[in-house]
Amino acid sequence: MTEEKVTMQNGQLQVPNKPVIPFIEGDGIGPEIWQAAQTVFDAAVQKAYDGQKQVKWLPLLAGEKAYQETGQWLPDKTLSTLREDLVGIKGPLTTPIGVGHRSINVTLRQKLDLYACFRPVTYYPGTPSPVVHPENVNIDVFRENTEDIYAGIESDVGTKDAKEWEKLLAKQDKLSKVRFPDSAAYAIKPISKQGSTRLVNAAINYALANDRHTLTLVHKGNIMKKTEGNFKKWGYEAAEEYGDKVFTWNRYDQIKANQGEQAAQQAYQTARDERKLIVNDVITDNFFQQSLLYPEHFEVVATMNLNGDYISDALAAQVGGIGIAPGGNINYQTGHAIFEATHGTAPQFAGQNKLNPTSIILSGAMMFDYLGWSGVAALIRSGIEQAIKSHHVTVDFAKTADATVLSTSAFGDYVARLI
Ligand code: NAD
Repeated sequence: MTEEKVTMQNGQLQVPNKPVIPFIEGDGIGPEIWQAAQTVFDAAVQKAYDGQKQVKWLPLLAGEKAYQETGQWLPDKTLSTLREDLVGIKGPLTTPIGVGHRSINVTLRQKLDLYACFRPVTYYPGTPSPVVHPENVNIDVFRENTEDIYAGIESDVGTKDAKEWEKLLAKQDKLSKVRFPDSAAYAIKPISKQGSTRLVNAAINYALANDRHTLTLVHKGNIMKKTEGNFKKWGYEAAEEYGDKVFTWNRYDQIKANQGEQAAQQAYQTARDERKLIVNDVITDNFFQQSLLYPEHFEVVATMNLNGDYISDALAAQVGGIGIAPGGNINYQTGHAIFEATHGTAPQFAGQNKLNPTSIILSGAMMFDYLGWSGVAALIRSGIEQAIKSHHVTVDFAKTADATVLSTSAFGDYVARLI
C-alpha cells in the first residue's frame, strides 16, 4: 500500500486513497478512547470502500508521554508533522499547571492558526438529557479560536507589567475606571476585523453548503462596544458580501427605517420563502436563555472565543454532555485541521476502560466529512445512533433499567459490528 499525504491545491483539499492521518492518543483516558475510536473508523472505511481506500494512522507524541520521553510537552516533530500532513485527530491532553507554559491545545490552535473551532451539537435519541426536548437542539457552533482573552495577554497584581499598564491608563484618563487598582490583575482582549471576518465567513460558507437557514452572531456588544460590538458589525459586513444569498437583520432594520415595519416583515418573509440564509444577532446572556427555551430557533452560531467556549459546553449539556460532543479546529484557507474530543483527560478514570469514547468517534466522523469521505462519516454516525438507541452504552449513558453497560473497548467493538 502506498501511503500518501493530504494536500491543499488551489483552495481544495486533495485526499489520496491511502492518506496518512496523524493522531495523538492523548493523556488520561485518551489511549482507551482512541483505541475504541480507531476500531470504529477502520470498520467504517472498510465497509464504505472495501479496501479501495484506507487510512494509514500515524501516531504522534504530545502531552505527558511526550514529556517523559522527550522532555517536551509538544515535541517539534509533532508540530512539524501536523503542519506537513494537514489533517489530524487527537484525544485530550493534560494542561500542566504551574510549570510556566500554556495549554497544548491552545498552542496547537495558535501555531497552526486553526481559527475556526467548529462544534456541531445534535441529539442522538436514547441519550440521557436534563431537558424535556433535547431533539430540538441541532446547532452548529463556530467559535473564533485565535483571539479574545485566550491570546493570553495578562498581567498579575502588582507586577511591573500591571504598573506599566496602569501608567498608560492614567495617561489616557482611564485609571479611575479601575475600581481597585492596588489589587487588580488585567487581561487584554484583542478582537480584529480580519479574525472576525474569516470566522464569520467560515460559518456562512458552512451554512450555505449544508442547507442551514439561520445564522446568529452572538456577542456582548452592548457592554464591550469596541470588541464584541465590532464583531457584530464586521459579521454583518461579511454577510452583506454574500449579496442575494443572505438576508441580514441590518437590512431588515434599514427597510423598516425607510419603508416601515410592514415592508421589512414582507422582505423578511420573502427571504425565508426563497430559503435565503437569515443572518441575525443576539446578546450572549439572552442567547443562553433563548437556546434553552427555544433551541429550535438557532441553526448556526458564530461567536468569539470565550463566548464560544461557554456556549458549546452549555449546548452540549442539553444533548447529553461533553462525553458525546465532538469538535474540529480548522483553517479553511491552509486546510490545516485537528479534530478532537471536547472533554478532558478525566485522569481519575484512566486505565479503567470505562468512559465514553463517543466524543472522539464523532470527531472522527467530522474529520471524514472534511476529507470528503462522507459515506464513512454517515456509517460512523449511524453506528453510534443504533448503539445509543438500543441502550448499549458506557456507564455515563446507562440511565435506563434496560441499559446494557459496555466498557470503552466493548462499546467501540459494538459500534464497529453495527457498521
Ligand atoms: P474532564 O473533561 O477531563 O473531566 C470532567 C468530568 O467529565 C470527568 O470527571 C467525567 O465525569 C466526565 N467526563 C470526561 N470525559 C468523559 C467521557 N469521555 N465519558 C464520560 N464522562 C466523561 O475535565 P477536567 O477534570 O476539568 O480536566 C482534566 C484534564 O484535562 C486537565 O488537565 C485539563 O486541562 C484537561 N483538558 C483537556 C482538554 C483537551 O485536551 N481538549 C479539554 C478539557 C480539559
